Amino acid sequence: MIYMDNAATTKPSLTAFERAREYVTEYFFNPSGMYREGFALQGELKKARSALLAPVANETAFELIFTSCGTEADNQAIFSFARRGNAVTTEGEHSAVLASFAELKNRGYAEPRFAPLNADGSVNVEKLLALVDEKTSFVSVMHVNNEIGAINDINAIAKLVKQKNPRVIFHSDGVQAYGKIPFKLCKEVDLYSVSAHKIGGLKGVGALIKRKSLVLPAYLIGGGQETGRRSGTENVFGIKQFEYAAEEKFATLQADYERLKAYRETLWEGLDKDVYTRLSSETGTPYILSVAASGLRGEILLHMADDKGLIVGTGSACSSNSKNRYSKVVLACGHDEKTADGVLRISFSPQTTAEEVAQAIGILNEIGRDLSRRMK
Ligand code: PLP
Repeated sequence: MIYMDNAATTKPSLTAFERAREYVTEYFFNPSGMYREGFALQGELKKARSALLAPVANETAFELIFTSCGTEADNQAIFSFARRGNAVTTEGEHSAVLASFAELKNRGYAEPRFAPLNADGSVNVEKLLALVDEKTSFVSVMHVNNEIGAINDINAIAKLVKQKNPRVIFHSDGVQAYGKIPFKLCKEVDLYSVSAHKIGGLKGVGALIKRKSLVLPAYLIGGGQETGRRSGTENVFGIKQFEYAAEEKFATLQADYERLKAYRETLWEGLDKDVYTRLSSETGTPYILSVAASGLRGEILLHMADDKGLIVGTGSACSSNSKNRYSKVVLACGHDEKTADGVLRISFSPQTTAEEVAQAIGILNEIGRDLSRRMK
């Protein structure tokens, strides 16, 4: 089986799993325990916090709060700070942000505003800035788009937003960027969401990185863990496995980036251009190649690929409900419904091999040509 749906989730790192195993078998204590063993686990959590933060942010200016997933980190940022006036985001966001922005309106917190995308899936910065005014309380711009793979220069955008309104709290969803593309957060980014399972960690572990001087209200209220900002007994095993998986990713990040970029181009070059058109731009993340088989259904191609041992994703919401049938993000890039219906998202991990890329080309061409013939 060839797995190329790594933007959905990655295979957990077994090395990281083995290293963290002792936090299940031996050191299972409650980190809030008053005894020595609990205290030692607090030390382990502190080490994890620092190891996960240091590669992407200055530790004197930023801190990290563990959450149960990327969605929770996004929700905590949005519902804590988009509380007045208006809040601005992009049409390219993951539903963790898009649906939360829609909810802002239902709750009467803030008026949600959505900035349009460029053809490559990045946000149109000029139009985003035009939506920011003196009443804007919160702006959220994703770092790497999960469907098309476009990269937004969030540091530059955060600076421009703050030039326009210095009181804005700026958040970025970094779930598809963290551990994959090189960057360091600048001081204008107040909040940044990450998730373990996109980089060899486990599902159910995430974190919200925040500027230290920003006062974050409690999101889950209870025992006061995470310095009172996110109560709930910590998932020590999941957090340590995340720490070790991230350590592996950051150690080879640049080399993986270059290799996967070459694989992405090889895959695209090998695809039959009579069947597929390219949606992801060359400047996007090397981890994602989105293509469209216009006139064919991506969902059917996905199942045909699965039958041949290749697992890929689709850009569409995969819903028979016509309202949700097409990916909003693909339409927001200016593509028509026919194109949006035929999207396949091929996403890599550092484990992807050249051999798998070659086999994927063969399978995708075979099923694409086969379905085209049948549609005639
Ligand atoms: N944001 C982006 C860009 C994502 O791709 C995802 C997952 O697909 C999420 C948020 C949600 O992360 P999690 O699955 O950890 O809740």
